[in-house]
Amino acid sequence: MNDRLIGILGGGQLGRMLALAGYPLGLRFRFYDPASDAPVRYLAEQVVASYDDYLAVTQFGDGLMVATYEFENVPVAMARALEQRVPVFPPPQALEAAQDRLVEKQFFTQLNIPTAPFAPVDDRASLDAAIARIGLPAVLKTRRLGYDGKGQMTLRTSADVDAAWCMLGGQPLILEGFVSFLRELSILAVRGQDDAIACYPLVENLHRNGILHRSIAPAPRLAPETQVLAETYARRVLEALDYVGVLAIELFELDETTARTTGARLLANEMAPRVHNSGHWTIEGAVTSQFENHLRAITGLPLGDTMVRGCAAMVNIIGSLPDVMMLLALPDTHLHLYDKAPRPGRKLGHVTICADDATHLADRLAIVERYILAGER
Ligand code: AMP
Repeated sequence: MNDRLIGILGGGQLGRMLALAGYPLGLRFRFYDPASDAPVRYLAEQVVASYDDYLAVTQFGDGLMVATYEFENVPVAMARALEQRVPVFPPPQALEAAQDRLVEKQFFTQLNIPTAPFAPVDDRASLDAAIARIGLPAVLKTRRLGYDGKGQMTLRTSADVDAAWCMLGGQPLILEGFVSFLRELSILAVRGQDDAIACYPLVENLHRNGILHRSIAPAPRLAPETQVLAETYARRVLEALDYVGVLAIELFELDETTARTTGARLLANEMAPRVHNSGHWTIEGAVTSQFENHLRAITGLPLGDTMVRGCAAMVNIIGSLPDVMMLLALPDTHLHLYDKAPRPGRKLGHVTICADDATHLADRLAIVERYILAGER
């Protein structure tokens, strides 16, 4: 066993940023990804094999200190097979809970974490029954493999039902009540092997075309009790799963009136048992980045401080590259490119802006967004 070699299932940008955070800690990395052109290809050794190749997984596990993932759709059976050879963090039961939207919402409910009303949909009759119970508008989603707004349709009126069923029917689905949220927030939390827990400040997220466009940390105009509530929810999930590593929970914040009538200020939408796009700002914006804290957790090191330095914002670069010269001429503005070929809708990198106060942050964020959106397609 090599006491410094970390195995990571998935070799995308999250894996890349994990490795970049781990080298200063003296760690080494081995990745597993089916794509030979994965963003980690020049950074570490990589096993190129499919996620159902058990022999390759067994070989991948040889000599690792610990294994983790940067991609939550790794087959659970594969993570369990790997667990026979090396410790795997977060535990595979976290994958199981996060991979199926129905299981995930049932899990939140068991933990007394409020969600939108939901019902399983397996055939047309159960869709009609779910609509009768939940009402419209509602969102019909695939239970598995949906991401970045894919695999879901909003049903505004009964006229939308047939088309949505035509698009999505024939696979396990979930119907969720449509939430008129004030905004989307996420909480990132980390749990160490010694059960210590640390939470980052809540982040405000804005999506465009179903993909995360930007995050602001800490979320502006946030009531302190909302942070406390989100941390309580994160703690429940971490402890219930005996979790080790970074976890993200995406939340809908409700307005005061709705919060008062429903008794819920935050609704959990989904969780990611890994480092998360809405935590990229932590590389420059927090005392310890989410990537370093994930590695600290899974290798049994003490967790680092999650405090934000001033305030920060992150803007994703999607589809095509912006004018790098203009971006990097801005103060305290940091560019991260993932070494991916440009393609419409593909996350190619991100920019983080740090500032001492919200006014300076907002000024520079507006400029960065303009540059990035000008280059996007
Ligand atoms: P998801 O794949 O569940 O993260 O959904 C992608 C995006 O769709 C979310 O970030 C929300 O903007 C929106 N969305 C998802 N579920 C709902 C819902 N029940 N009500 C309203 N908007 C939703």
